[in-house]
Amino acid sequence: MDETLTLGMDVGSTTSKCLILRGGKDIVASALIPAGTGTSGPRRALEEALGRAGLTREDMASITATGYGRATFPGADYVVSELSCHALGAHALDGEAKTVIDIGGQDAKVLRLGPEGTLGSFLMNDKCAAGTGRFLEVMARVLERDVSDLAEMDAQAADIVPISSTCTVFAESEVISQLAKGADLNDLVKGIHRSVAVRTASLVRRLGVEAPVAMTGGVAQNAGVVRALEKELGTSIRVSPLAQLAGALGAAVYGWRKRRDTE
Ligand code: ADP
Repeated sequence: MDETLTLGMDVGSTTSKCLILRGGKDIVASALIPAGTGTSGPRRALEEALGRAGLTREDMASITATGYGRATFPGADYVVSELSCHALGAHALDGEAKTVIDIGGQDAKVLRLGPEGTLGSFLMNDKCAAGTGRFLEVMARVLERDVSDLAEMDAQAADIVPISSTCTVFAESEVISQLAKGADLNDLVKGIHRSVAVRTASLVRRLGVEAPVAMTGGVAQNAGVVRALEKELGTSIRVSPLAQLAGALGAAVYGWRKRRDTE
């Protein structure tokens, strides 16, 4: 039995994710700290995951860093692009997925998966906050709610208040003016989710939709965005409960494959 332990560290823009894998497939422990690159988040995520597993850094055959702040993580054996790690991680979560939509704290990516989770073609929006977790965070703040409340609010909506501005700053003003007019908060949230979905769907269509489609990244936890995106694309989207850990999982898989390939 393969007992090799590999650790994946995803230093995100908003959240640090760490995951320990045994034998390239069994998750031993994971940790998610809502503080990203340039903070104590990566170190805390590492300590928390190791602590939960009752293991030390020395027990790890390798540490692979990925994510926006991957270059700043000290002591990594491998530093790998988040695109490759998300592809590997999405494949590990759902071996059938062909298209992966990843929406994180400050970017959105669409990936086509090849055999074994290799990265095929991809498209990315990392230039504009609209259509990313940042957009949702800005809107949640205006509504005095947490991003984790948005899915439930969307589910309660009786109608939709469309948001026409594509720019985050203008959309924020639009939401504030709707609030001043007494718009229903839940209906507004539905409009906000549709706006993210419309933007993401255009990126997905440019790459081409090949089913099954899976979603990863923190925003995948927002069922309102997932539903809106399914509607825009006319296809169902698979979401694992571990979607936000996909990058860290892919990094741990990468470290395990490196070892396998050199033996
Ligand atoms: P990054 O790697 O850039 O830090 P993540 O993939 O970790 O990004 O996703 C972070 C984003 O996920 C946040 O901007 C937030 O909008 C969203 N998010 C995190 N947790 C939840 C949740 N429980 N419900 C809805 N959205 C969430």
